[in-house]
Amino acid sequence: MRFSPFSWLLGYFSLDIGIDLGTANTLVHVHGKGIVITEPSWVAINKRTKEPIAIGSAAKEMVGRTPANVEVIRPLRDGVISEFEITQAMLEYFIAKAHQQSIVPIPRPRVVVGIPAGVTEVEKRAVYDASMAAGARETFLIEEPVAAALGAGLPIGDVRGSMVVDIGGGTSEVAVMSMGGVVASRSLRVAGDELDEDIIQYMRNKYNLLIGQRMAENAKMTIGSAYHLPEEKTMALRGRNLVTGLPDSVEVSSIELREATANSVQTIIDTVKDTLDETPPEIMADLMDTGICLAGGGSLLQELDTRLTDALQVRAWVAEDAISCVARGAGIALEEFDRWKGLFVGLDRQSTRR
Ligand code: ADP
Ligand code: MG
Repeated sequence: MRFSPFSWLLGYFSLDIGIDLGTANTLVHVHGKGIVITEPSWVAINKRTKEPIAIGSAAKEMVGRTPANVEVIRPLRDGVISEFEITQAMLEYFIAKAHQQSIVPIPRPRVVVGIPAGVTEVEKRAVYDASMAAGARETFLIEEPVAAALGAGLPIGDVRGSMVVDIGGGTSEVAVMSMGGVVASRSLRVAGDELDEDIIQYMRNKYNLLIGQRMAENAKMTIGSAYHLPEEKTMALRGRNLVTGLPDSVEVSSIELREATANSVQTIIDTVKDTLDETPPEIMADLMDTGICLAGGGSLLQELDTRLTDALQVRAWVAEDAISCVARGAGIALEEFDRWKGLFVGLDRQSTRR
């Protein structure tokens, strides 16, 4: 790299931002500072004007408590941009917030955004456009599992293969990588949210108890599991009794929640297995050493690593700070731009938005 006082100045003052635009949470990594923003990917909008009223944590707080003219939405719910303008407003807000923290807010930032593997050209273009419209000087896209692997510290530049499973809210992404490229990958629209839905269904069918989404998620995080626990637990879930219409509380066990979420967990395992089926034997042999790295909030489900290890006969392990792997990986890709530029996803220049 050529060194000149000018480029040094520019590098010092300009911002490199890595963004994990997740279906559940958005994380922003700023060069030299680490993760500066972790907020839910939620936006409260005025139903009539479609103007955003609150973004991130402030919006999530409003869930279930809004007056008739306000709606709280997750614009990325299924892993793609279904609500372009709202996603753009959200990105703009987060980029501005990260920018505010820089010493001198001069040039516009260079941005890397993580996108689910296997999204369409139109979806890629939508993320790119949203980032540029939100004030980025340059925007690069990187597939989420690739960023997760980089953030988890996997040796993806090596000839030896490595594998990552990134389980978020709306999507689970699986990728096998070697020599800085993707050998096999899968994206599945079953992840953490689906487990919450399973728990809601289960409580309704078995106990006639209607529970809210946050109660379900809380139950999953507290006593949910993918494999039997050394000590099974119980928890009281509150909601509305559908027979009496009155508030009610039911004590459920971790065994019951495991049963409730069994199908979705199995679907995720099957997808990992399908990806392994496509993996060349030499790389398969490498994976017997390096194992399968789990990332994303969904990978924190208790004993998921044990369950995968048991089902696939390859050691699965949860990455350190699993929730921030994608954002950190996006940050690393920018920091070591020349080394990792091959990982960025190309955009078809001719394609148009939507
Ligand atoms: P995304 O990348 O889609 O934004 P995240 O990686 O932030 O998603 O993960 C969010 C998901 O992780 C949610 O479904 C959440 O319920 C789940 N999650 C977070 N912590 C835990 C936990 N301790 N146990 C089980 N699931 C968890
Ligand atoms: Mg994610």
